Amino acid sequence: MTTVYQAQDAAHHVHPFTDTAQLNQKGSRVITRAEGVYIYDEAGHKILDGMAGLWCVGVGYGRDEIVDAVAAQMRELPYYNAFFQTTHPPAAILAERLARLAPQQMNHVFFTGSGSDANDTVVRMVRHYWASQGQPDKQVIISRKNAYHGSTMAGASLGGMGAMHGQGGLPIPNIVHINQPYWYGEGGTQDPNEFGLARARELETKILELGVEKVAAFIGEPIQGAGGVVIPPASYWSEIQRICDKYQILLIADEVITGFGRTGEWFASQYYGIKPDLMPLAKGLTSGYLPMGAVLISDRVFDVIANHGEFYHGYTYSAHPAACAAALSVLDILEREQLVTRVKNDIGPYMQERWLKLAEHPLVGQARMVGLIGGLELSPNKAQREPFKVERGTVGLIGRENSFANGLVMRHVGDTMIISPPLTISYREVDELINKAQKTLDDTYQKAATLGYLD
Ligand SMILES: *Cc1c(COP(=O)(O)O)cnc(C)c1O
Repeated sequence: MTTVYQAQDAAHHVHPFTDTAQLNQKGSRVITRAEGVYIYDEAGHKILDGMAGLWCVGVGYGRDEIVDAVAAQMRELPYYNAFFQTTHPPAAILAERLARLAPQQMNHVFFTGSGSDANDTVVRMVRHYWASQGQPDKQVIISRKNAYHGSTMAGASLGGMGAMHGQGGLPIPNIVHINQPYWYGEGGTQDPNEFGLARARELETKILELGVEKVAAFIGEPIQGAGGVVIPPASYWSEIQRICDKYQILLIADEVITGFGRTGEWFASQYYGIKPDLMPLAKGLTSGYLPMGAVLISDRVFDVIANHGEFYHGYTYSAHPAACAAALSVLDILEREQLVTRVKNDIGPYMQERWLKLAEHPLVGQARMVGLIGGLELSPNKAQREPFKVERGTVGLIGRENSFANGLVMRHVGDTMIISPPLTISYREVDELINKAQKTLDDTYQKAATLGYLD
């Protein structure tokens, strides 16, 4: 039965990243409210949101104090811009506070409306940085295949999603991609750390191939999120840092997902011990309560761009006062409830222990998790890490549908199941999540067996 919302939606709402014809055959799931780690649909189903929305709702749903802070700000000053030499209190306070939380070398911030915008800013800032120093040919940004950096022209170009590049003539010029550090899928019989080093060294090979005088920067997500929660081997990031240092190219850590406690540190750059020059942020910054992104800027980059005249770049909603107020309120909660340390020392280790045990399931080739971000590789032959013989993502999609039916939002990327719950999740809710994931694996195993996908 189609509800009124579903009918309106099907008639007029074009969804992001969606096969519209396919969706409209069955109708959208209508989510009407949320509280804590749970969302509720129109039919009244209570679903544990194992994805924190789209990786963003770190502090959980139903936080009146964020709502109140935003309402108060909107009564005081709902909008003013930061162009033309003006600012407002929430922008100034948030900039100072982010600089304090950020890694030591980062003391400045540029505000954007989203993570994609932040990556557009990054592309322009990086090129402006080199041009300002008389090296306008240093334009190339090296990224990785299967990276996700957003969906604007620059974001999708930086990203390494072939399907996205196939639509709209991407990537834009001077963005190139090397291989990702995805040991489970691409590491074969190599030792993970050997593999991690080899993949990092592709950066050096690429720099030498292009000529260092052409290369501006390297960009990577510390842990690839949308690409399937690819956690790189321990050897990877230190080698990337070494290569960036050696050739003096900028290091960009896209922390849109990994920022604000997801890994048990404020930023995953701290988890991996790297020192980025630019750090795009979004998602957890406002916990999704309002849209906002930002780029944290190192002193090295700031000192150049701040002293070379006007940077012709900005968004109407850069440093939107209400979004700043939401971010400040989220930071209050993260600090007061010590959610980052909680992920590192308390709920994180508990969830990791339970999640990693799912690897014992006959359908699971690997379970991995850092902080509260994890993945499960589904395989018909776990010992060999074999893919299914049906089209990639077929079994993963069955898994996602089963998960929803079991009252758990768990996404799939290909045949990898992924999870990224609110940082506030309780022990009891972790148990519930694991039990539902377990049942989902059982159901998916059954269905895959029935369809002959396990042969
Ligand atoms: C989600 C995401 C983006 C894009 O952010 P939007 O707010 O959707 O534009 C960029 N980078 C990473 C790593 C992301 O996960």
